[in-house]
Amino acid sequence: MFVRDPCGIVCIIVTYVAVFYADYVVVRWVILHSLQDSLWGPFHVVAFNTIVLLLIMSHLKAVCSDPGLVPLPQSRIDFSDIHTDNPETKVECDETENWTVCTRCDTYRPPKAHHCRICKRCIRRMDHHCPWINNCVGERNQKFFIQFLVYVGMLAVYALGLVIASWILECSRCSNDVAVKQSRDLHCIILVLESALFGMFVVAILVDQFQGILEEENTMKRIQNNHHYKRNSSRTLMLLSQVCGKSHPILWMLPCQNPPRYTFRKDAYLIDHEV
Ligand SMILES: [Zn+2]
Ligand SMILES: [Zn+2]
Repeated sequence: MFVRDPCGIVCIIVTYVAVFYADYVVVRWVILHSLQDSLWGPFHVVAFNTIVLLLIMSHLKAVCSDPGLVPLPQSRIDFSDIHTDNPETKVECDETENWTVCTRCDTYRPPKAHHCRICKRCIRRMDHHCPWINNCVGERNQKFFIQFLVYVGMLAVYALGLVIASWILECSRCSNDVAVKQSRDLHCIILVLESALFGMFVVAILVDQFQGILEEENTMKRIQNNHHYKRNSSRTLMLLSQVCGKSHPILWMLPCQNPPRYTFRKDAYLIDHEV
């Protein structure tokens, strides 16, 4: 899914420029400069670039995934009585499941699905529309979005640590050329500012994301009714598995497995009956 939103496209370009610039400064001006004689040099190059790779993979997954589009009915459902009211009106069309009607998509949608004005579609368990992934954060890609935030945070802390270590370490073979020293200092200062800015930014969003997931008391009730989840011991793990999938928690940080798809009765109805 690709959303034609200029702000989103600019944010994606800024993300990649920032990541590749950080990689360039860390490898060229920090590691090759201060750690060239040590075995720690190649180790940090491999470790840093592994995190960069995982960051890009999780970002691409978050950008390209279907965030959980509510399927459109194959033929038009008549909601003319609803159209006359305020377009924001939510109509309870199923007393037990709190389904609502989207008057922009002209379709039924499950609980917690919201309409995104930028994507112009309803998204299941929509969190928000994020310009940094140029996509909505919803049921099907929230896992990749959180992975992306965690990797950005890890990269920021790692870069800061390497710059500070290189400032402390004395370097015997370092060039004493003033111009080289100046450009190195300039790149390092930009990297420190960039890492601090993005680091604080992702920590703030991560705290918000986890608060949102852990406050899902209604979801909790649904899980408890599900026999499959009954044996899970920790409440936190249960709530996180709603976002990250049923695989082992160790695998949650790998940007490969897609999160589970929950089938909603009304969706099945809409598709099966081609309403
Ligand atoms: Zn909608
Ligand atoms: Zn959206």
